[in-house]
Amino acid sequence: MNIIDRFFKYVSFDTQSDEDSLTLPSTAKQLALLDYLQDELKALGLTVTRSKCGYVYATLKANTDSKVRLAFLAHVDTSPAVSGASVKPQIIKYTGGDVLLNSAEKIYFSEKDFPEIKRYLGQDIIFTDGTTLLGADDKAGVAEIVSAVEFLLDNPTIPHPEIKLAFTSDEEVGRGTEDFDVKAFGADFAYTIDGGELGELNYENFNACSGNVVIKGISVHPGDAYGKMINAIDVFNEFHNMLPIDSRPNTTRDHEGFFMVESISGGIEELTAKYIIRDHNSQKFADKKAYFTKVADKINEKYGRTVVVATVKDSYYNMKNIIEKHYHLVDNAITAFKNCGVEPVILPIRGGTDGSHLSFAGLPTPNLSTGGHNFHGRFEYIPVQSMQKMTEVIVELARIYSK
Ligand SMILES: [Zn+2]
Repeated sequence: MNIIDRFFKYVSFDTQSDEDSLTLPSTAKQLALLDYLQDELKALGLTVTRSKCGYVYATLKANTDSKVRLAFLAHVDTSPAVSGASVKPQIIKYTGGDVLLNSAEKIYFSEKDFPEIKRYLGQDIIFTDGTTLLGADDKAGVAEIVSAVEFLLDNPTIPHPEIKLAFTSDEEVGRGTEDFDVKAFGADFAYTIDGGELGELNYENFNACSGNVVIKGISVHPGDAYGKMINAIDVFNEFHNMLPIDSRPNTTRDHEGFFMVESISGGIEELTAKYIIRDHNSQKFADKKAYFTKVADKINEKYGRTVVVATVKDSYYNMKNIIEKHYHLVDNAITAFKNCGVEPVILPIRGGTDGSHLSFAGLPTPNLSTGGHNFHGRFEYIPVQSMQKMTEVIVELARIYSK
């Protein structure tokens, strides 16, 4: 099956995950695609197993003496942000300017809004009809991995180590590795194929924690409040304004970390505020957490009593600390891209990634591009040529690790 047919088949499944669900997978409909993948991989001749919640694991035996067990991972769910039902993918050769996606509803893809499209002049772009997301995140990753394995099976003279595949659910709702048993999976190294533009390589993500602030005020009738009232809302303002204004998500980029207030609830008597704190650098992350609690101490000192209690709880860590010990994963990905004529671009992830949890659980897992753009939206697209290139890159990585 060619990669376009394969990708179109995958996006015909509605696999939207659900952040409010308590089950795993969060939506049963994800299992339909996972079942399909199980059958497809078995038909290709791979050994397939399933995890308790339905992840599909598969193994392609080595055809060399290489002892490395190399894995490729992708997730089957799509973002809850935009519908992924009845996706109508279409291939349009990009010749410049805006692209009419849907004549009935007069929906255009705007070159001005998404100028990156100009890089793909003359290429065959897979768009939606402008009413749903496409699901290149991450079904393009799935299609590229399966196509690469099919290519290796069709070309047995290309050397490769033992290759493990894993297709998982619920990445988009932050539960993508909940059922992942790294030991049982039995791989030494892995790559997720879940990034954006062709050539992207990520091996750093944020260190992350949540911050919780509880403020206990003193409510007094406003007429008698002189010298007595402590308004928790005013105290919250003091607290928030003591955090650096140039360390917010909208004032930072690249490797700059931040504090972000996520929600506040309460009134004069009591107020709760929830924060997230992020930094790629471990020392700066520790400093930010210390600063966050020190601000509370300062305010308590001023009031002469405990008005504010600020606590932090770690969420996940920068996988760079693990990947650096296995830097061949980065070097070999760079070599594989270059050997396929793609200029690699190393970008820090300003968020988390499944690879972070896996890396800390013992499976070092950087992330590579899928080739897609505008994920989680109606204007998501992916050039066919980028998908074909990524398939080549995966084959090349297998060849590199066969030695
Ligand atoms: Zn993804």
